[in-house]
Order: sequence, then structure tokens, then C-alpha cells
Amino acid sequence: MKVDFKRTDRPFVIAGPCSAESESQLASFAKSIDSSKIDVIRAGIWKPRTRPDSFEGMGSVALPWLKQAGQLAKLPVATEVANSEHVEASLKAGIDILWIGARTTVNPFSVQEIADSLKGVDIPVVIKNPLNPDLQLWIGAVERLKHAGIGQLAVLHRGFSFYGKSNYRNKPMWEIPIAMRTHFPEIPMLCDPSHINGKREGLGEIAQKAIDLGMDGLMLESHPCPAEALSDAKQQIIPSELKLLLNNLIWRREDILDPAVISKLGKLRAEVDTLDEEIARFLSARMELTDAIGDYKKEHGLTILQLERWKEVIDLYDKALKPANVSTSFIKNFLENLHEESIRRQTEVVNKERKEAQSKGVFW
Ligand code: PEP
Ligand code: MN
Repeated sequence: MKVDFKRTDRPFVIAGPCSAESESQLASFAKSIDSSKIDVIRAGIWKPRTRPDSFEGMGSVALPWLKQAGQLAKLPVATEVANSEHVEASLKAGIDILWIGARTTVNPFSVQEIADSLKGVDIPVVIKNPLNPDLQLWIGAVERLKHAGIGQLAVLHRGFSFYGKSNYRNKPMWEIPIAMRTHFPEIPMLCDPSHINGKREGLGEIAQKAIDLGMDGLMLESHPCPAEALSDAKQQIIPSELKLLLNNLIWRREDILDPAVISKLGKLRAEVDTLDEEIARFLSARMELTDAIGDYKKEHGLTILQLERWKEVIDLYDKALKPANVSTSFIKNFLENLHEESIRRQTEVVNKERKEAQSKGVFW
């Protein structure tokens, strides 16, 4: 089947329980959702669990339950595949969309096995990011499926494993999905706030952030009775909460079609450009002054790094920028970069003769 992951009116939504647990659980979910707000029903049939004594999914017997839930809600259905047997069983059961989980994307052998078993099959495949924050591994998985001729691909950001404490179950590290979108601008990107968050509270915030960053859709775990869920109980929400969450999202788009919006935004951007030109001019002038100071320090045998002076510069920026609600981390990062560049230039000025001698092959 053909799936358009890039809707223009609202995010593309894949929703459903973490795991398919029973025929009645899936039927109950399918009957309680608003099919106009959801595009695909999800459920895990084979569950990749961290510990062997956890619920590992119902296996193939659950495939017809999922299919039936789709028929009840008149929606396509999706499940996770981790090897060629899963692919074969899913295709046989008429599953409409497959996804590759984070624990599978990490393993190029498994991804290749799935890609090989899908050769010649026209089915949409969603590739979750690998567990570890490795952009190349994620890119590699997409390439393997592309080479196998899979034309309908989407990628899905579900956060990254880490050791230690955090508010998240999996750290979002938003810069990685942004880098992925930059690498594959044509491939739709979805976000899975449930696995990033690991709990119900705050799910909407993550979903909104994904939309604000221009992602095309969401995968959300929802269960008729989360307290009884056999996997990921803490992060699942009931269908009415899912509806509330989706209704409260503000849909934003990257491509602007309204001429009035284009014109107003154009004016604001022109103002920003003017300011950016001034900032660049000031920065160049500052760099030149830094060079002159480097020369002067050299003449008087002074060190390049002068800690007291550096503190004065930090104070100056803190005083000027904090009232404008500029974050401490921005000021810190900006000044560290500025200082590093000043030191690099002054080192060059101070060591000019040595550099020149070296370029003539004289070593000292
Ligand atoms: C899931 O979607 O239920 C799942 C196991 O996800 P992930 O691969 O992101 O951990
Ligand atoms: Mn889950």
C-alpha cells in the first residue's frame, strides 16, 4: 500500500499499544479511537526486551488480532520486525507497514537481513534511530533499505540510551534527528515521544517540540488500560488522553504558502540580515583589535591569556545579555568560542617569526 507520511493538515500519527496482548485488547483500542486523527494502528508482536524474564510478545498468533483491529478502525496497521522470519510472517498476515526498532538498527547484519527479505516488496518501512547516538549507523540502515529498493521510507526519532539519571527514558539529543533531516531532507521524519519520555507526564511537550522542529508525524503508545499493560505500562496513555494530546498540538509547517505570511516573514528576515551584517562587521573589527593587542603583548613580554581581563569580558556580556533573557549557556558557549579564536589569533601574532622560519624549513 501507499502511505503519505507528509500530511499537510496535521501530523501523521501512528498509535497503539506497546504490545499486542490479546484480541480483545486490540479490538477495544480500535473501537475507542477517533480514526480521523490517527493514520496507523501499531502494536508490537515480537518484543525485544532487555531482560529475558520480561514479556517478550505474543508472537505470530497476535498478527491476525492486529489486522482485525485495523479493519475495525478502517486503518492500516504496523508492527516491528527484527529478522527475516518476522518480515515473512508479517507480510503473510497482511501487515501494512513495518518498523525497525532501535535495538535492530544498531546491528548492520540484522538490518541487512531485513533489507534482503524485503527485496521486491512494496511496503512502507519506518526506521527508528539506533539505541546509541550514532548518526552514521542510522544513515547506514536507511541506505541498506534504499539499496534493497524500498521506496517508501520514513525515519523515526525515539531518543538515545545513556548511563545515569535523566528526566528522560531515552535522551532526545535533538541535534541528531536534525542532522538526519539535513542528510535526508526528502525522507519523512516521525518522533516517538513515548519511548523518549518513558512516562505519561510531559508527552505532549515532546510531541509539540518534534512538530516545532518540522518533523512530519508521531508514534504514540496508547493502551485501553495502561495499568494492566504487559510492557511499557508507565508511558502508555488511554485513548481519550491520546485524543486530548493530539487535539492540543499546534501544527506548524516549514513551507509557507500564504503570500501575506511570506511577505511579513521576508521583512523580519531582512531586518535580521541587517543585524547579522552589523554583528559580522563588529566581529571583524574586534578580531583586528585582538591582533593589535597580541602585537603589543609580544612587545612587552606579556602572556596571551590574562585571566583578570577575561573575567571582565564575561561580566560585560552577562550584564548586557541577561536582561534580554539570553541563556547563561548561550553566553558561555559564545564567549568560549570568541576567546578561543582570540587566543588562536594572538598565538599566531606572537609566534610569527617562528612560523615564518618553519615555513622556510628552519626548525627552532
Ligand atoms: C516499541 O516501539 O515498542 C519499541 C520497542 O521501541 P524502540 O525500538 O524505540 O525501543
Ligand atoms: Mn514500547
